[in-house]
Amino acid sequence: MSPHVLINEIDEFIGNPEARLASHGVKPTSSRLLVFRELARARRPYSIKDLEDRLLTVDKSTIFRVLTLLLHHHLVHAIEDGSGALKYELCCGHDECTLEDQHTHFYCEHCQRTFCLHDTKVPQITLPAGFIVQTINYMIKGLCPECHSSISY
Ligand SMILES: [Zn+2]
Ligand SMILES: [Zn+2]
Ligand SMILES: [Zn+2]
Repeated sequence: MSPHVLINEIDEFIGNPEARLASHGVKPTSSRLLVFRELARARRPYSIKDLEDRLLTVDKSTIFRVLTLLLHHHLVHAIEDGSGALKYELCCGHDECTLEDQHTHFYCEHCQRTFCLHDTKVPQITLPAGFIVQTINYMIKGLCPECHSSISY
């Protein structure tokens, strides 16, 4: 894949990364842009380790600080998949995170990757009076297609 194609793909998904950060009040420093671009390129949620393995020029504590900042400004979501490490993905919402911009995730218990099921909406639930939803972490666990076809029973 040429770098040109890659940049176009990212633009389609998220717009201009520098403008996106700036519009959320985040100064687009080079390490922030590197983390942001890597997540835009990812197509699935990444752990800090996943980012560390790919961003050889950015150390782990910087990655952690950048993610904390992006979370605070609603530019990323953190996902608990039960693997023990949070995974991060870019928020597709416009300003604030809304429940509508959330989707279902699938955790493969074999390869320990988490996938975004964008077309599988989070089911609507009714809560007792007095409870207010802020986030929904809707995680399905099992085997991804790749692992399912490679494991013989
Ligand atoms: Zn969001
Ligand atoms: Zn798998
Ligand atoms: Zn997702």
